[in-house]
Amino acid sequence: MRIAILGAGLLGRLLALQLSQDHDITLYDKDDGTAQQSAAYQAAAMLAPIAESAEASNAIMQMGQRSLELWPDLLKQLNEPIFFQKSGSLVLAFAQDGASFANFQQQLKGQINQDYSLIDKTRLSELEPELAQQPRAFQHMMYLPDEGQLDNRQLLHALRDTLISRDIKWHTDTQVSLQNNQIWINDKYFGFEKIGLMFDKIIDCRGLGAKTQIAPSSQLRGVRGEVLRLYAPQVNLQRPIRLMHPRYPIYIAPKQNHHFVVGATQIESEDNRQPTVRSALELLSACFSVHSGFGEAEIVEISSGLRPALQDNEPQIWINDHVIQLNGLFRHGYLLSPAMVEQCCALINDNIDKVPSYPGLITKL
Ligand SMILES: Cc1cc2nc3c(=O)[nH]c(=O)nc-3n(C[C@H](O)[C@H](O)[C@H](O)COP(=O)(O)OP(=O)(O)OC[C@H]3O[C@@H](n4cnc5c(N)ncnc54)[C@H](O)[C@@H]3O)c2cc1C
Repeated sequence: MRIAILGAGLLGRLLALQLSQDHDITLYDKDDGTAQQSAAYQAAAMLAPIAESAEASNAIMQMGQRSLELWPDLLKQLNEPIFFQKSGSLVLAFAQDGASFANFQQQLKGQINQDYSLIDKTRLSELEPELAQQPRAFQHMMYLPDEGQLDNRQLLHALRDTLISRDIKWHTDTQVSLQNNQIWINDKYFGFEKIGLMFDKIIDCRGLGAKTQIAPSSQLRGVRGEVLRLYAPQVNLQRPIRLMHPRYPIYIAPKQNHHFVVGATQIESEDNRQPTVRSALELLSACFSVHSGFGEAEIVEISSGLRPALQDNEPQIWINDHVIQLNGLFRHGYLLSPAMVEQCCALINDNIDKVPSYPGLITKL
Protein backbone atom coordinates (compact mmCIF):
# COMPACT_ATOMS: atom_id res chain seq x y z
CA MET A 1 0.00 0.00 0.00
CA ARG A 2 1.14 3.61 -0.57
CA ILE A 3 0.77 5.41 2.74
CA ALA A 4 1.30 9.08 3.57
CA ILE A 5 2.06 9.99 7.18
CA LEU A 6 1.48 13.63 8.11
CA GLY A 7 3.70 14.69 11.03
CA ALA A 8 7.03 13.08 11.90
CA GLY A 9 6.85 13.57 15.66
CA LEU A 10 6.53 10.64 18.00
CA LEU A 11 3.56 8.82 16.47
CA GLY A 12 4.57 9.59 12.90
CA ARG A 13 8.07 8.16 13.27
CA LEU A 14 6.93 5.05 15.14
CA LEU A 15 4.19 4.39 12.58
CA ALA A 16 6.67 4.82 9.75
CA LEU A 17 9.00 2.33 11.47
CA GLN A 18 6.30 -0.32 11.80
CA LEU A 19 4.56 0.23 8.48
CA SER A 20 7.72 0.52 6.37
CA GLN A 21 8.23 -3.23 6.86
CA ASP A 22 5.34 -3.96 4.45
CA HIS A 23 4.29 -0.68 2.84
CA ASP A 24 5.59 2.23 0.80
CA ILE A 25 5.81 5.19 3.21
CA THR A 26 5.98 8.94 2.56
CA LEU A 27 6.45 11.15 5.59
CA TYR A 28 5.72 14.91 5.72
CA ASP A 29 6.77 17.31 8.45
CA LYS A 30 7.00 21.05 8.66
CA ASP A 31 10.31 20.88 10.54
CA ASP A 32 13.83 20.06 9.37
CA GLY A 33 13.82 16.44 10.55
CA THR A 34 15.12 17.14 14.05
CA ALA A 35 11.62 17.03 15.62
CA GLN A 36 12.43 20.17 17.53
CA GLN A 37 8.94 21.55 16.86
CA SER A 38 7.22 18.49 18.30
CA ALA A 39 5.92 17.89 21.82
CA ALA A 40 7.96 14.69 21.64
CA TYR A 41 11.22 16.64 21.72
CA GLN A 42 10.47 18.36 25.05
CA ALA A 43 9.10 15.34 26.92
CA ALA A 44 10.59 13.64 29.96
CA ALA A 45 9.54 10.30 28.38
CA MET A 46 8.34 8.71 31.58
CA LEU A 47 6.57 5.38 31.08
CA ALA A 48 4.47 5.35 34.22
CA PRO A 49 1.11 3.60 33.72
CA ILE A 50 0.36 3.08 37.40
CA ALA A 51 1.41 6.52 38.65
CA GLU A 52 -0.48 8.18 35.79
CA SER A 53 -3.59 6.10 36.55
CA ALA A 54 -4.27 8.42 39.50
CA GLU A 55 -5.59 10.94 37.01
CA ALA A 56 -6.33 8.82 33.96
CA SER A 57 -8.73 6.08 32.92
CA ASN A 58 -8.33 2.32 33.18
CA ALA A 59 -7.92 2.21 29.41
CA ILE A 60 -4.90 4.51 29.60
CA MET A 61 -3.36 2.35 32.31
CA GLN A 62 -3.93 -0.79 30.21
CA MET A 63 -2.58 0.82 27.04
CA GLY A 64 0.44 1.99 29.01
CA GLN A 65 1.08 -1.50 30.33
CA ARG A 66 0.68 -2.92 26.83
CA SER A 67 3.12 -0.29 25.49
CA LEU A 68 5.73 -1.24 28.08
CA GLU A 69 5.57 -4.78 26.63
CA LEU A 70 5.84 -3.46 23.06
CA TRP A 71 8.70 -0.98 23.48
CA PRO A 72 11.56 -3.55 23.51
CA ASP A 73 10.56 -4.98 20.11
CA LEU A 74 10.22 -1.51 18.61
CA LEU A 75 13.64 -0.52 19.92
CA LYS A 76 15.23 -3.69 18.51
CA GLN A 77 14.46 -2.41 15.03
CA LEU A 78 16.56 0.72 15.48
CA ASN A 79 20.02 1.03 13.94
CA GLU A 80 21.47 2.31 17.22
CA PRO A 81 20.78 1.48 20.89
CA ILE A 82 18.90 4.00 22.99
CA PHE A 83 18.54 4.38 26.76
CA PHE A 84 15.44 2.44 27.87
CA GLN A 85 14.91 1.46 31.47
CA LYS A 86 12.31 -0.53 33.37
CA SER A 87 13.60 -0.36 36.95
CA GLY A 88 10.47 1.07 38.53
CA SER A 89 9.87 4.52 39.92
CA LEU A 90 9.44 6.09 43.35
CA VAL A 91 6.75 8.45 44.59
CA LEU A 92 7.90 10.57 47.52
CA ALA A 93 6.30 13.19 49.75
CA PHE A 94 7.46 15.39 52.59
CA ALA A 95 5.34 15.61 55.73
CA GLN A 96 3.38 18.67 54.57
CA ASP A 97 2.23 16.86 51.41
CA GLY A 98 0.82 13.84 53.29
CA ALA A 99 -2.75 14.64 52.25
CA SER A 100 -1.78 14.82 48.54
CA PHE A 101 0.06 11.52 48.89
CA ALA A 102 -2.97 9.82 50.52
CA ASN A 103 -5.26 11.22 47.84
CA PHE A 104 -2.87 10.07 45.10
CA GLN A 105 -2.77 6.54 46.55
CA GLN A 106 -6.55 6.41 46.77
CA GLN A 107 -6.90 7.30 43.10
CA LEU A 108 -4.41 4.72 41.80
CA LYS A 109 -6.06 2.03 39.68
CA GLY A 110 -3.35 -0.57 40.29
CA GLN A 111 -3.27 -3.15 43.11
CA ILE A 112 -1.34 -2.47 46.31
CA ASN A 113 1.58 -4.89 46.87
CA GLN A 114 1.38 -5.93 43.25
CA ASP A 115 1.56 -2.79 41.11
CA TYR A 116 2.89 -0.60 43.91
CA SER A 117 3.91 -0.84 47.57
CA LEU A 118 4.37 1.59 50.43
CA ILE A 119 7.97 1.48 51.60
CA ASP A 120 9.99 2.63 54.60
CA LYS A 121 13.36 4.32 54.94
CA THR A 122 15.25 1.00 55.01
CA ARG A 123 13.78 -0.03 51.65
CA LEU A 124 14.41 3.46 50.27
CA SER A 125 18.08 3.17 51.24
CA GLU A 126 18.30 -0.14 49.32
CA LEU A 127 16.69 1.36 46.23
CA GLU A 128 18.21 4.86 46.27
CA PRO A 129 20.93 5.03 48.95
CA GLU A 130 21.62 8.75 48.42
CA LEU A 131 17.99 9.71 49.02
CA ALA A 132 17.90 8.04 52.41
CA GLN A 133 20.82 10.26 53.51
CA GLN A 134 19.32 13.62 52.60
CA PRO A 135 18.98 16.30 55.28
CA ARG A 136 15.22 16.54 54.73
CA ALA A 137 13.52 13.19 55.34
CA PHE A 138 10.64 11.92 53.23
CA GLN A 139 7.58 11.00 55.25
CA HIS A 140 5.66 9.04 52.60
CA MET A 141 7.24 6.69 50.08
CA MET A 142 5.91 4.40 47.38
CA TYR A 143 7.69 2.03 44.99
CA LEU A 144 6.17 1.14 41.60
CA PRO A 145 8.35 -1.73 40.35
CA ASP A 146 7.17 -2.06 36.74
CA GLU A 147 7.49 1.52 35.50
CA GLY A 148 10.05 2.78 33.05
CA GLN A 149 11.46 5.65 31.05
CA LEU A 150 13.55 6.23 27.93
CA ASP A 151 15.69 8.94 26.39
CA ASN A 152 13.31 10.75 24.04
CA ARG A 153 15.92 12.64 22.02
CA GLN A 154 18.03 9.54 21.45
CA LEU A 155 14.86 7.78 20.33
CA LEU A 156 13.78 10.50 17.89
CA HIS A 157 17.29 10.63 16.44
CA ALA A 158 17.60 6.84 16.12
CA LEU A 159 14.17 6.65 14.48
CA ARG A 160 15.22 9.21 11.90
CA ASP A 161 18.46 7.36 11.10
CA THR A 162 16.69 4.03 10.83
CA LEU A 163 13.91 5.40 8.63
CA ILE A 164 16.39 7.11 6.33
CA SER A 165 18.35 3.87 6.02
CA ARG A 166 15.11 2.16 4.98
CA ASP A 167 14.77 4.67 2.13
CA ILE A 168 11.39 5.99 3.10
CA LYS A 169 10.47 9.29 1.41
CA TRP A 170 10.76 12.02 4.04
CA HIS A 171 9.68 15.54 3.06
CA THR A 172 11.10 17.96 5.62
CA ASP A 173 10.19 21.66 5.83
CA THR A 174 6.86 20.75 4.29
CA GLN A 175 3.69 22.03 5.88
CA VAL A 176 0.66 19.96 4.97
CA SER A 177 -3.06 20.31 5.41
CA LEU A 178 -6.05 17.99 4.96
CA GLN A 179 -9.07 19.15 3.01
CA ASN A 180 -11.84 16.80 1.87
CA ASN A 181 -9.58 13.88 2.78
CA GLN A 182 -6.85 15.03 0.44
CA ILE A 183 -3.40 16.32 1.20
CA TRP A 184 -2.54 19.91 0.42
CA ILE A 185 1.06 21.05 0.51
CA ASN A 186 2.10 24.56 1.43
CA ASP A 187 4.38 25.57 -1.36
CA LYS A 188 6.34 28.61 -0.33
CA TYR A 189 5.73 30.27 -3.72
CA PHE A 190 2.23 29.14 -4.66
CA GLY A 191 0.54 28.66 -1.26
CA PHE A 192 -1.42 25.47 -0.56
CA GLU A 193 -1.59 23.10 -3.48
CA LYS A 194 -3.44 19.76 -3.65
CA ILE A 195 -1.17 16.80 -4.32
CA GLY A 196 -3.98 14.58 -5.59
CA LEU A 197 -4.96 11.00 -4.85
CA MET A 198 -1.53 9.41 -4.82
CA PHE A 199 -2.01 7.41 -1.60
CA ASP A 200 -4.10 4.43 -0.56
CA LYS A 201 -4.09 5.62 3.06
CA ILE A 202 -3.33 8.91 4.78
CA ILE A 203 -2.40 8.88 8.48
CA ASP A 204 -2.58 12.22 10.24
CA CYS A 205 -0.27 12.49 13.29
CA ARG A 206 0.30 16.22 13.35
CA GLY A 207 -0.44 16.56 17.07
CA LEU A 208 -1.45 20.12 17.84
CA GLY A 209 -0.81 20.99 14.17
CA ALA A 210 -4.10 19.21 13.33
CA LYS A 211 -6.04 21.47 15.66
CA THR A 212 -8.55 22.80 13.15
CA GLN A 213 -8.74 19.57 11.18
CA ILE A 214 -9.84 16.84 13.54
CA ALA A 215 -13.36 15.48 13.91
CA PRO A 216 -15.95 18.18 14.61
CA SER A 217 -16.64 18.70 18.32
CA SER A 218 -13.37 17.04 19.35
CA GLN A 219 -11.70 20.29 20.38
CA LEU A 220 -7.98 19.75 20.48
CA ARG A 221 -6.03 22.08 22.78
CA GLY A 222 -2.44 22.58 23.88
CA VAL A 223 -1.48 22.08 27.53
CA ARG A 224 1.72 23.89 28.41
CA GLY A 225 4.59 22.00 30.02
CA GLU A 226 7.91 23.46 31.16
CA VAL A 227 10.93 21.28 31.61
CA LEU A 228 14.57 21.49 32.73
CA ARG A 229 17.58 19.48 31.63
CA LEU A 230 20.33 19.31 34.25
CA TYR A 231 23.80 17.82 34.49
CA ALA A 232 24.43 16.82 38.10
CA PRO A 233 27.66 14.85 38.63
CA GLN A 234 27.03 14.77 42.39
CA VAL A 235 23.70 13.01 42.08
CA ASN A 236 23.31 9.26 41.65
CA LEU A 237 19.76 8.08 41.14
CA GLN A 238 18.82 4.77 39.55
CA ARG A 239 15.22 5.46 38.67
CA PRO A 240 12.70 8.31 38.20
CA ILE A 241 11.37 10.07 41.28
CA ARG A 242 7.93 11.62 41.38
CA LEU A 243 7.61 14.25 44.05
CA MET A 244 4.19 15.11 45.43
CA HIS A 245 3.53 18.74 44.73
CA PRO A 246 0.35 20.70 45.41
CA ARG A 247 0.05 21.99 41.81
CA TYR A 248 1.30 19.19 39.52
CA PRO A 249 3.41 16.03 39.75
CA ILE A 250 7.12 16.74 39.37
CA TYR A 251 9.37 14.07 37.94
CA ILE A 252 13.13 13.88 38.24
CA ALA A 253 14.11 11.41 35.54
CA PRO A 254 17.76 10.31 35.56
CA LYS A 255 19.05 9.73 32.03
CA GLN A 256 22.58 8.54 31.22
CA ASN A 257 25.82 10.07 32.57
CA HIS A 258 24.29 12.17 35.36
CA HIS A 259 21.87 13.98 33.07
CA PHE A 260 18.41 14.60 34.48
CA VAL A 261 15.14 15.72 32.96
CA VAL A 262 12.99 17.56 35.46
CA GLY A 263 9.42 18.38 34.72
CA ALA A 264 7.00 19.14 33.95
CA THR A 265 4.58 21.86 34.79
CA GLN A 266 1.03 21.37 33.55
CA ILE A 267 -0.70 24.62 32.75
CA GLU A 268 -3.99 25.12 30.89
CA SER A 269 -2.58 27.52 28.36
CA GLU A 270 -1.30 27.55 24.80
CA ASP A 271 1.32 30.11 25.76
CA ASN A 272 4.48 28.93 24.01
CA ARG A 273 6.96 31.32 25.56
CA GLN A 274 10.07 30.07 27.33
CA PRO A 275 9.48 28.89 30.95
CA THR A 276 8.52 31.49 33.53
CA VAL A 277 10.60 32.38 36.58
CA ARG A 278 7.93 30.95 38.86
CA SER A 279 7.94 27.55 37.13
CA ALA A 280 11.73 27.40 36.96
CA LEU A 281 11.93 28.20 40.68
CA GLU A 282 9.37 25.51 41.50
CA LEU A 283 11.14 22.84 39.46
CA LEU A 284 14.60 23.77 40.71
CA SER A 285 13.59 23.96 44.36
CA ALA A 286 11.82 20.60 44.03
CA CYS A 287 15.10 19.07 42.79
CA PHE A 288 17.13 20.63 45.54
CA SER A 289 14.65 19.49 48.20
CA VAL A 290 14.94 15.89 46.95
CA HIS A 291 18.75 15.80 46.72
CA SER A 292 21.13 18.53 47.88
CA GLY A 293 23.60 17.47 45.17
CA PHE A 294 21.41 19.34 42.67
CA GLY A 295 22.74 22.55 44.25
CA GLU A 296 25.87 22.25 42.11
CA ALA A 297 24.10 20.97 38.99
CA GLU A 298 24.52 22.73 35.68
CA ILE A 299 21.33 23.93 33.97
CA VAL A 300 21.82 22.55 30.47
CA GLU A 301 18.46 23.55 29.03
CA ILE A 302 15.19 25.07 30.04
CA SER A 303 12.32 24.81 27.60
CA SER A 304 8.59 24.48 27.17
CA GLY A 305 6.18 22.61 24.93
CA LEU A 306 2.47 22.10 24.30
CA ARG A 307 0.88 18.70 24.80
CA PRO A 308 -1.90 17.89 22.31
CA ALA A 309 -5.00 17.13 24.41
CA LEU A 310 -8.67 16.45 23.73
CA GLN A 311 -11.48 17.52 26.07
CA ASP A 312 -11.25 14.40 28.27
CA ASN A 313 -7.45 14.12 27.99
CA GLU A 314 -7.88 10.67 26.38
CA PRO A 315 -6.37 9.68 23.02
CA GLN A 316 -8.53 9.05 19.95
CA ILE A 317 -8.30 7.35 16.57
CA TRP A 318 -10.76 8.48 13.90
CA ILE A 319 -11.32 6.66 10.63
CA ASN A 320 -12.81 8.61 7.76
CA ASP A 321 -12.67 6.56 4.57
CA HIS A 322 -8.96 6.28 3.65
CA VAL A 323 -7.85 8.81 6.29
CA ILE A 324 -6.88 7.75 9.83
CA GLN A 325 -6.23 10.45 12.42
CA LEU A 326 -4.49 9.78 15.75
CA ASN A 327 -4.35 12.49 18.37
CA GLY A 328 -4.85 13.60 21.98
CA LEU A 329 -1.89 11.82 23.54
CA PHE A 330 -1.68 14.62 26.10
CA ARG A 331 1.01 13.86 28.72
CA HIS A 332 1.05 10.20 27.70
CA GLY A 333 2.67 10.13 24.28
CA TYR A 334 5.59 7.88 25.23
CA LEU A 335 3.41 5.91 27.58
CA LEU A 336 0.81 5.12 24.92
CA SER A 337 2.35 5.41 21.47
CA PRO A 338 3.35 1.74 20.98
CA ALA A 339 -0.23 0.65 21.76
CA MET A 340 -1.65 3.41 19.51
CA VAL A 341 0.69 2.33 16.71
CA GLU A 342 -0.35 -1.29 17.21
CA GLN A 343 -4.02 -0.28 16.79
CA CYS A 344 -3.32 1.82 13.71
CA CYS A 345 -1.22 -0.88 12.02
CA ALA A 346 -3.96 -3.43 12.74
CA LEU A 347 -6.51 -1.12 11.08
CA ILE A 348 -4.28 -0.76 8.02
CA ASN A 349 -3.44 -4.46 7.85
CA ASP A 350 -7.06 -5.45 8.48
CA ASN A 351 -6.47 -7.51 11.63
CA ILE A 352 -7.89 -5.34 14.40
CA ASP A 353 -9.49 -8.41 16.02
CA LYS A 354 -6.00 -9.78 16.74
CA VAL A 355 -4.90 -6.92 19.02
CA PRO A 356 -6.23 -5.77 22.42
CA SER A 357 -9.23 -3.44 22.28
CA TYR A 358 -9.81 -0.34 24.41
CA PRO A 359 -13.30 1.11 24.90
CA GLY A 360 -13.98 4.33 23.00
CA LEU A 361 -10.55 4.56 21.38
CA ILE A 362 -11.58 4.15 17.74
CA THR A 363 -14.39 6.14 16.11
CA LYS A 364 -15.58 5.59 12.55
CA LEU A 365 -16.83 8.86 11.08
C1 LIG B 1 6.99 19.19 28.66
C2 LIG B 1 6.40 17.87 28.21
C3 LIG B 1 6.66 16.72 28.95
C4 LIG B 1 6.14 15.49 28.54
N1 LIG B 1 6.46 14.37 29.26
C5 LIG B 1 5.96 13.17 28.88
C6 LIG B 1 6.28 11.98 29.62
O1 LIG B 1 7.05 12.02 30.58
N2 LIG B 1 5.72 10.81 29.21
C7 LIG B 1 4.89 10.72 28.15
O2 LIG B 1 4.42 9.63 27.85
N3 LIG B 1 4.58 11.83 27.42
C8 LIG B 1 5.08 13.04 27.77
N4 LIG B 1 4.77 14.17 27.05
C9 LIG B 1 3.76 14.07 25.98
C10 LIG B 1 4.28 13.65 24.62
O3 LIG B 1 5.43 14.38 24.28
C11 LIG B 1 3.18 13.86 23.58
O4 LIG B 1 2.01 13.21 24.00
C12 LIG B 1 3.58 13.30 22.22
O5 LIG B 1 4.75 13.91 21.76
C13 LIG B 1 2.46 13.45 21.19
O6 LIG B 1 2.92 12.83 20.01
P1 LIG B 1 2.38 13.22 18.56
O7 LIG B 1 3.17 12.43 17.59
O8 LIG B 1 0.89 13.14 18.56
O9 LIG B 1 2.71 14.79 18.43
P2 LIG B 1 4.11 15.50 18.31
O10 LIG B 1 5.15 14.72 19.01
O11 LIG B 1 3.90 16.91 18.74
O12 LIG B 1 4.44 15.49 16.73
C14 LIG B 1 3.66 16.23 15.82
C15 LIG B 1 4.51 16.47 14.57
O13 LIG B 1 3.68 17.02 13.54
C16 LIG B 1 4.38 18.07 12.88
N5 LIG B 1 3.38 18.98 12.31
C17 LIG B 1 2.45 19.70 12.96
N6 LIG B 1 1.69 20.39 12.09
C18 LIG B 1 2.15 20.09 10.85
C19 LIG B 1 1.76 20.47 9.53
N7 LIG B 1 0.72 21.29 9.30
N8 LIG B 1 2.45 19.97 8.50
C20 LIG B 1 3.50 19.12 8.69
N9 LIG B 1 3.91 18.73 9.91
C21 LIG B 1 3.23 19.19 10.98
C22 LIG B 1 5.21 18.72 13.98
O14 LIG B 1 6.33 19.42 13.42
C23 LIG B 1 5.64 17.48 14.79
O15 LIG B 1 6.87 16.95 14.33
C24 LIG B 1 5.30 15.42 27.40
C25 LIG B 1 5.08 16.56 26.64
C26 LIG B 1 5.61 17.78 27.04
C27 LIG B 1 5.35 19.02 26.20
